[in-house]
Amino acid sequence: MRTKVIDILRSTNYGAEVTVKGWVRTKRGSKSVNFIALNDGSTIHNVQIVADVDKFDEELLKKVTTGACLAVTGTLVESQGAGQAAEIQATDIVVYGTCDAEYPMQKKGQTFEFMRQHAHMRLRTNTFGAVFRIRHNMAMAIHQYFHERGFFYFHTPIITTSDCEGAGQMFQVTTKNLYDLKKDADGKIDYSDDFFGKTTSLTVSGQLEGELAATALGAIYTFGPTFRAENSNTPRHLAEFWMIEPEVAFNDINDNMDLAEDFIKYCVRWALDNCKDDLEFLNKMVDKTLLERLNFVVNNDFVRLSYTEGVEILEAAAKAGKKAFEFPVYWGVDLASEHERYLVEEHFQKPVILTDYPKEIKAFYMKQNEDGKTVRAMDVLFPQIGEIIGGSEREESYEKLTARINELGIPMKDMWWYLDTRRFGTCPHSGFGLGFERLILFVTGMQNIRDVIPFPRTPKSAEF
Ligand code: ATP
Ligand code: MN
Repeated sequence: MRTKVIDILRSTNYGAEVTVKGWVRTKRGSKSVNFIALNDGSTIHNVQIVADVDKFDEELLKKVTTGACLAVTGTLVESQGAGQAAEIQATDIVVYGTCDAEYPMQKKGQTFEFMRQHAHMRLRTNTFGAVFRIRHNMAMAIHQYFHERGFFYFHTPIITTSDCEGAGQMFQVTTKNLYDLKKDADGKIDYSDDFFGKTTSLTVSGQLEGELAATALGAIYTFGPTFRAENSNTPRHLAEFWMIEPEVAFNDINDNMDLAEDFIKYCVRWALDNCKDDLEFLNKMVDKTLLERLNFVVNNDFVRLSYTEGVEILEAAAKAGKKAFEFPVYWGVDLASEHERYLVEEHFQKPVILTDYPKEIKAFYMKQNEDGKTVRAMDVLFPQIGEIIGGSEREESYEKLTARINELGIPMKDMWWYLDTRRFGTCPHSGFGLGFERLILFVTGMQNIRDVIPFPRTPKSAEF
């Protein structure tokens, strides 16, 4: 029977016969003995295999190279070396798969850029093993958090017809023959004979359907893939990413902020409690301030202030020459990442929640404030990341919502169902969207969002 490396390293059952299976990380040795570091992905740590050279066929040991896959049977013994508790004195080695010198992950210290080009093999490295074990843990934490609090996991469609949000940023879905498009008299493409009989796209957010569920089940969350065809080549944007969107009936913007802060802290604490070895590795190898930053977020209140106050701070900093921003800052501007990071990293040195943004730069469904200029939006801003969460209290008034829709000229012909929530038993409600990969960026200390999703999709790149 196979034992996982993680369990071997916890075991003190010395003298027992065990079998481990995994991939060779390194082999070193002398004329009389080989030391093989074997990893099976269950933990960042390797188990050391001790193979006496005179007990094994020379040809067999030659096949044990970095990257090769082995099954090893032997005796569990207390380790002589520091660090590891147990190692295995090998009695039998089977080579499942040899691995030649072209194995791209053979050399240590490759750049992340290089590893991205070999994303199919980078999973076998320490860093990516750690990242994806943490990614799994964060998914578990999210489900646990909401489940414990009575939220229902709600599945919203991937293929949608709602083109009211961010048109032009959507990936169209069609089965039409692009070489032979039927057009009407005005030269417009006729979609009536397309698969769904109308234009359809990949979802940019599950929120609108999430609102339908929240106003029936009370509190829900979505957790699924979202797609944005925005041509932004940044270390924080993907064309395909995962989003978590809680939506809660009767929550106002303050409840929404409390939920966002509590939720993120829960996830970070989960990582600190459950991903210790991987975080310690990343703290050592990737970002020396990672653990400090994670502990800081868990132990400090987020700063809450209005967009208007935030802009005042930024304007003052620019004016006093404290900070030279690439993009100008003034009331009404959609804050750039450099602005958000100045507030978080330099001014407050804490996570910040900005509220009450100008309505022009926010979505149509956000609750309008009395001032006629701002809406009850909230963005949670994080060190290194900038915006990690975007949310709002939703406009519950049918009249105000339709007025705003008309003002913006949003095509609502397919959106009658959304407006029905406001016609039939409308209620105050709020929600937000957390970009899953932005959370993983924060928790792992990785610098590029392409390195926290297994197979990133970005402009001009959809390999693997
Ligand atoms: P940004 O201003 O950073 O482009 P956004 O305001 O367009 O983000 P929202 O529409 O508010 O983002 O989406 C909610 C959350 O989804 C964001 O706070 C962010 O964490 C995440 N997110 C948005 N766009 C992307 C993307 N292209 N790749 C990865 N995560 C994203
Ligand atoms: Mn946003």
